[in-house]
Amino acid sequence: MSQVKLNIKLLEMTQNAISIIYAACRQCYSTKFAGEIFEEKKDDMKKQEEFIKKVVKSGHESPLEHVKFTFAIEGVSRALTHQLVRHRIASYSQQSQRYVKETNFDYIIPPSIEEDETLRDEFVKVMGKIQTSYNKILKKFKEKGIVGEKANQDVRFILPQAAETKIVVTMNCRELLHFFEQRCCARAQWEIRNLANKMLEICKEHLPAVFSNAGAKCERLGYCPEGRKFTCGKYPLKEDVIKKR
Ligand SMILES: Cc1cc2nc3c(=O)[nH]c(=O)nc-3n(C[C@H](O)[C@H](O)[C@H](O)COP(=O)(O)OP(=O)(O)OC[C@H]3O[C@@H](n4cnc5c(N)ncnc54)[C@H](O)[C@@H]3O)c2cc1C
Repeated sequence: MSQVKLNIKLLEMTQNAISIIYAACRQCYSTKFAGEIFEEKKDDMKKQEEFIKKVVKSGHESPLEHVKFTFAIEGVSRALTHQLVRHRIASYSQQSQRYVKETNFDYIIPPSIEEDETLRDEFVKVMGKIQTSYNKILKKFKEKGIVGEKANQDVRFILPQAAETKIVVTMNCRELLHFFEQRCCARAQWEIRNLANKMLEICKEHLPAVFSNAGAKCERLGYCPEGRKFTCGKYPLKEDVIKKR
């Protein structure tokens, strides 16, 4: 068992993403069939990208639902995935603590604990104790004839939220924009914010027409909707912007 860090890999994104979004947008306003529009404009990337940028800016977001990204993620805590799966417009496949034994579990150490030697030592000691007890309970279960998933599903109750997990996530572009608005914000918890920022980097690289201006909600709004107590100060507060009008 040891400390691990975030690792993220883009498994796949929808092919011909730009032309699909473009054809879907155009279908709304055209007498033509999207199938024709898709073929006609396929080679004029610049025109399609410019059009999509305008559409995203205007808030006409449903055409973005036709394009999705699939990420493989590891080196994150169960505390993170508990927050991640609250985003309902997405698909998830997570490593199971019933089917996969945790006889040598890895864990995530929060930076506030890692940077302090005394706290770090305490943290690592507790992880070791949990591991010892986990293995002891599994052994006792075996003597009683309780094995496999029946044993795993109960002994996992003593595992910490820090326990490392792996998950595959698929989100469409509209949901990704929403996810970034919430989770790239300085108010979001540090671990999911790190993940969201990494996912955003990947999305920007692969589909800048949609994601070049994406990020925390203040990036779109031009002001901070959080209260004075919580703002990071990057943008003026909503209340201050309204007062000035
Ligand atoms: C800083 C921060 C602090 C948080 N603190 C807490 C907390 O203390 N406790 C807690 O429980 N959660 C907390 N959350 C989680 C939060 O309440 C949401 O559950 C989570 O962020 C998912 O957001 P969502 O529902 O907008 O997203 P998604 O589930 O991805 O939904 C996307 C959008 O689809 C629409 N939608 C989806 N499902 C429905 C539905 N059933 N009905 C109507 N519209 C729907 C909504 O417009 C929604 O915004 C926190 C989140 C953040 C970012």
